[in-house]
Amino acid sequence: MKLDTVKLIIDLKSLSRGVNRGVFIIPLEKVEWNIEGVEPFDRQGTLELMVDYGDEAVLCSGSLDAHFRTPCARCLEPSHFSISEEIYREYAWSPDPASGEQRELISQSGELNIFNAVQEAVLLSIPGKPLCSPDCTGICYN
Ligand SMILES: [Zn+2]
Repeated sequence: MKLDTVKLIIDLKSLSRGVNRGVFIIPLEKVEWNIEGVEPFDRQGTLELMVDYGDEAVLCSGSLDAHFRTPCARCLEPSHFSISEEIYREYAWSPDPASGEQRELISQSGELNIFNAVQEAVLLSIPGKPLCSPDCTGICYN
């Protein structure tokens, strides 16, 4: 399986029918994550992918082992979080009118863009109330 580790695009031609597995080192700082207030903390992350290449659809699942940072909710210093959510997305060559499920389309050039699926796992892993440390006392205004 061939993956552009910056754009997060899989070359479909590099896949065989059925289940494909791969482990990739992602240069986190080069990826345009485009998530407000969130930056990579580690320089690199490990992306484990399982891609099931079927006739009707391509199922992509996996996980990203990486740390990101976002401002602490109390003091605005960086707080770190790891990616806890799994990556899961279904791709198809044509929209399926029968199912209400939103499926992403595979480009005519044979590229499988998994950026949105990976970005979503990062978005869903952002803590609701990020803290730099459990006993952060926040900004002192005195
Ligand atoms: Zn803090």
